[in-house]
Amino acid sequence: MSPILRGNRDLIRSINRSILLNGIKTQGEVSRAALAHLTGLSPATVTGITGKLIQEGLVFEKAMGDSTGGRPPIMLALNPRGGFVIGIKLMEGHAIGALTDLNATILAKDTIALADKKVETSVEMLSVLVNRLVQSSGIRKKQLLGVGIGLAGVVDFAHGIVRQNPFFGWRNIVLGDLLGTRLQVPVFIDNDVNTLSLSERWLNQGQPEDNFILITVGRGIGMGIVINGQVYRGKAGGAGEFGHIVVDRNGPLCDCGRHGCLESLVSDRALVAQARQAVGPEIADLDDVINHANDGNAEAKSVLTHAGALLGTQLANLVNLFDPKLIIISGEGTRMGELFFSAVRTAFHDCVMTGLAEDTEIRIKSWGDDIWALGAASLVIAEIFKSPIQKEETTEKSKM
Ligand SMILES: [Zn+2]
Repeated sequence: MSPILRGNRDLIRSINRSILLNGIKTQGEVSRAALAHLTGLSPATVTGITGKLIQEGLVFEKAMGDSTGGRPPIMLALNPRGGFVIGIKLMEGHAIGALTDLNATILAKDTIALADKKVETSVEMLSVLVNRLVQSSGIRKKQLLGVGIGLAGVVDFAHGIVRQNPFFGWRNIVLGDLLGTRLQVPVFIDNDVNTLSLSERWLNQGQPEDNFILITVGRGIGMGIVINGQVYRGKAGGAGEFGHIVVDRNGPLCDCGRHGCLESLVSDRALVAQARQAVGPEIADLDDVINHANDGNAEAKSVLTHAGALLGTQLANLVNLFDPKLIIISGEGTRMGELFFSAVRTAFHDCVMTGLAEDTEIRIKSWGDDIWALGAASLVIAEIFKSPIQKEETTEKSKM
């Protein structure tokens, strides 16, 4: 057989595999006959491929279902413990990791300190973290299907390259290859906010949203764009740098080297700097700003409402551009609470085009440290369920 024909047959087989795997995941429990009906694949194909999935431990058989007198039908279900993944959020000074099953249930969590900003130190410490997580969860290393890393900055997901990271000062670092070679497991890296968006898409209960924008507020201002169920990354991973849209060219200096970016006016550090000037030197961190505002300090209140209005205006601009169904706001900064968010909403409604705001929901998402690590884990989970065509598309787009 010619290699091309052979290649096509393998491709079709792996597409069918992904269709069936997703079918079983969506249905929860499903018989082979129902799966054939649902996917349009022949019963023989369904039997062949699900047999292989059972062998691999990703799917298992359950004897149950609504029996009509004959043998109870055999149902197929996803085995969440058929494999495990690790998600890590890499931050300035430390990394947080979680080992989860395929339902993203956390089995082990750990944090490791990074002594410096060198690539070699990070690779070394990340591999120590991965091995510690494998050990403390009690799984075998070969059950680990992959490691996902989320970090700030511009990341070329398809090639595993950190194009630019503001905290470490990295440029064009092949982190995916370096860590993958070291660990001997597949490593996927992406912008941290993209990983959060993926986890919203993959790990949420109920009907997943196919079109939404996720904004994070905190140390920086991040953005993830999900269009038709896929994260939009731009030509090489640079899409969604919402924090660095310039809103005032004469504004304060930003981490990126320009002046007046949204981030330089609305991030944690910006608010602390503004409040220190307006309230006094007793302001040390964002919690001080929030506490002063909640205690009725007019200057602290005005810092929060001014920042909220700035963010709300830019959210209106986003909705005018993308018309998403949902905007999720997450991140450490959500603890700024109602004072901040009522200013966000007022400015948003003042600035958005008439007709666009009515069915756009702004949802504030509660926050915890685990969310970043879970986001990075979902990077691997999404890969497991992705069809080879989608994988191909990601690689092709990044070459454009
Ligand atoms: Zn900037």
